[in-house]
Amino acid sequence: MNETDFGRPPDPLRLEVTRRLAERELQSALSSFLGYGLQAYLALSVLPKALVWGWLGLMLLLEGCNAAIAWWGRPVLKHPARMRSYLRLQTLGLLLSGSCWGLSALALAMQGDILLYAINVFVLVVVGAFSIHNLCLYLPALACFNLGLMLPVALSGLLQTQPYAGFSTAAALFSFLMILLYGHGAGRATRREIQTRFAMQSLTQELMRKNKDLTEAYQLIEEQAAHDSLTHCLNRRALRQRFQKLQERRRSEDVFLGALMIDVDHFKQINDRHGHAAGDLVLLTLVARIKEQLRAIDLLARWGGEEFLCLVFGGEGGNLPAVAERIRAAVAVLPIPFEGEYLYVTVSIGAARLREGEDFEALVRRADEALYRAKAGGRDQVQAD
Ligand code: GH3
Ligand code: MG
Ligand code: MG
Repeated sequence: MNETDFGRPPDPLRLEVTRRLAERELQSALSSFLGYGLQAYLALSVLPKALVWGWLGLMLLLEGCNAAIAWWGRPVLKHPARMRSYLRLQTLGLLLSGSCWGLSALALAMQGDILLYAINVFVLVVVGAFSIHNLCLYLPALACFNLGLMLPVALSGLLQTQPYAGFSTAAALFSFLMILLYGHGAGRATRREIQTRFAMQSLTQELMRKNKDLTEAYQLIEEQAAHDSLTHCLNRRALRQRFQKLQERRRSEDVFLGALMIDVDHFKQINDRHGHAAGDLVLLTLVARIKEQLRAIDLLARWGGEEFLCLVFGGEGGNLPAVAERIRAAVAVLPIPFEGEYLYVTVSIGAARLREGEDFEALVRRADEALYRAKAGGRDQVQAD
């Protein structure tokens, strides 16, 4: 992670990496207290108590600050400038706590007790390895902490102030080797894992969005396939399907009365005299008036140009011709205003009650025959079969 990159608005991936670093730093600050306890225990047997307690207090303070920085850093990471300050502060805190820890190791090393010294170096190597795991997402912080941790020990070895020089130098070298080898690889692997998770997330979101679009498109197509584009009534195919479905579960439904075939009288003349737009307006008005006379469960379909088929269910004593008459009257009684004129429209209706065992085609045929009689009888009337 290059620090200059933080001048730009942070992308979600970089934010996530830094957030993960803050989380790990918090964990490592908390777990480090175990290591301090062991160091203090070792030191108490050979160093003045006041020095050990003072050191422990200082470590608690430093690690407390590290934890506080990590805690504070989590909610403010979205601001690039703050993210930069957060990373600097964290690196400084780690350098200080690493150095303090390393100095205590130096103090222990100078006692010349091989067992004490070996345990001490072992603890530092373990802590160093944990820090590599926790801080590998930001190598400068990792390097600073381990430098602080190992440098005093290495120096004590190089200056030969005690007889086990090889130990400390080896520990320091091992720690840096781990940073180079494992730290770098671990950082890359963690980043890749975060990247993959992000890619999966955005892929899932994309899939969900596409799925929603497809469902909507499918619903729209289904809607369009079942309805007439001008009047939005059902079309022939859809009405036939609904009829079949209703037949399957008719017993639980309201009593099915039958079919009405409704046809506008002399519709061609309306088109010829007033234009196609007037004809369309008549069709729309007609549909609205028919629907006013029907119940919600009744079905209305555009059967042809100016012909509508209506499937009517029970209620009101179940009188099919009466429903047809209501529709006829509702159309005839109110002329339709169009461009300053009034269009006088009437309809003829053929009514057919469904017979036992009769199929859809036969029912429609009888309604059509009844309509033909209504036309032949002078129009603007209802004929029932
Ligand atoms: P009848 O009383 O015997 O039913 O006579 P009609 O003129 O109503 O019947 P005809 O079948 O002769 O004419 C129907 C006309 O309806 C012919 C066609 O141009 C017109 N038409 C069909 N679909 C539409 C439409 O969507 N909009 C308009 N404006 N006219 C349509
Ligand atoms: Mg007609
Ligand atoms: Mg017709």
